[in-house]
Amino acid sequence: MRAIVVGAGIGGLAATLSLFRAGHEVTLVEQTARFTEVGAGIQLAPNATRELRRLGLLDAVAAQSTRPSHVTFRTWSDGSEICRYTLGREAEDEFGAPYLLVHRADLHEALTAAVPHRSVRLNTEVVGIDQEDGAAYVTTATGERLGADLVVAADGIRSAARTWLFGPDEAVFSRTAAYRALLPAGEVADLDLPELAVWLGPGRHFVHYWVRRGELLNVVAVVQAEAARESWTARAEPGEQRRAFDGWDSRVLSVLERAGRVLRFGLYTRAPLARWNIGRATLLGDSAHAMVPFQAQGAAQAILDAAVLGDALVGAAPADVPDALDRYVRRRLAAATGMQAGSARAGEDFHLPDGPEAQARDARMAAHAAENRFLPQATAWGRDAVPPP
Ligand SMILES: Cc1cc2nc3c(=O)[nH]c(=O)nc-3n(C[C@H](O)[C@H](O)[C@H](O)COP(=O)(O)OP(=O)(O)OC[C@H]3O[C@@H](n4cnc5c(N)ncnc54)[C@H](O)[C@@H]3O)c2cc1C
Repeated sequence: MRAIVVGAGIGGLAATLSLFRAGHEVTLVEQTARFTEVGAGIQLAPNATRELRRLGLLDAVAAQSTRPSHVTFRTWSDGSEICRYTLGREAEDEFGAPYLLVHRADLHEALTAAVPHRSVRLNTEVVGIDQEDGAAYVTTATGERLGADLVVAADGIRSAARTWLFGPDEAVFSRTAAYRALLPAGEVADLDLPELAVWLGPGRHFVHYWVRRGELLNVVAVVQAEAARESWTARAEPGEQRRAFDGWDSRVLSVLERAGRVLRFGLYTRAPLARWNIGRATLLGDSAHAMVPFQAQGAAQAILDAAVLGDALVGAAPADVPDALDRYVRRRLAAATGMQAGSARAGEDFHLPDGPEAQARDARMAAHAAENRFLPQATAWGRDAVPPP
């Protein structure tokens, strides 16, 4: 069978590889002239790395990653530890795959290197999807019409395909914005930073971890915001990120002061849909279920979509596509929608004002960690978290 995948982000690339693996021909169509990823880190939980292994990419990604032994949650004002969870060998043994911290460009490169050049059309913007006579078509900005047995729209949080397939709806501003930066390890060596940490404070949280074999510190500093610029590449004003965290622990402030190139952008989500597929076309990744990144699961969910989509189409003939897409969506929709809600709740919890509510949260987190070795969202990391076909 022939498939067209729209969008060469993490979701579209993983879907392309998964469809190849299922034995189908794929054309991957991307609007930008080059493969690109934002300069930042990404956490890959075992549910994502297990699927990267199935795609034959785990070794390449792991070679560029760091492997945290645990994550700590800390109090904004003095860094005191609220609780810690295991992520190292114990998690790998439990979930059958490692927890990795990766530079997004390294992940993207491992994915693109596995896709044959002949299957990729860069510089090709899709402006419409339609279906007729047992085939699905994409129309490009230059007026070409490409046909296939199925079309997978992995066109990201601003998905136009979502509107073409299901009618107009907009990305929803989460009232939070993120500052992101990468710092060379040498510039923060004196700060004695904890390994992977999430610092919680009123209306804010601050995350840092090492990527690229420990050479770079990835920083994500999240603030509540009334309005935000939408671009991934909006530069913060000089010192803006430091001012936003005034009064925080001196290590946090030192990191923010030393950050050179800081990107600031609003965090958006998409409302859950009742279905992602129609006939021979389906959404995948952020186009289907964009979420706030507070459980570090958006890309992992896109990679899982890709894996389940490929599984649903193994051995499929053109006539089987609509049913196979139904099976894919049945196996993925509830889990991804649950992760969207869980990530939003985590943000509310992280940003509680100082006082009784924050104290109760800290006590709750400490009690949970005393009883459980793994993060609350780890219930979604196991092999059995994806329902059987
Ligand atoms: C601050 C932040 C931190 C995050 N941290 C994590 C984390 O630690 N772990 C994790 O798992 N997830 C994380 N995420 C989420 C993750 O980044 C996203 O869920 C993931 O990148 C979505 O991938 P995607 O392929 O669906 O979309 P995208 O990566 O947005 O890719 C969409 C692609 O489609 C192309 N495209 C769009 N429209 C068209 C068109 N009309 N024609 C052709 N091409 C088109 C675009 O150019 C782009 O290449 C984070 C997100 C943010 C914002």
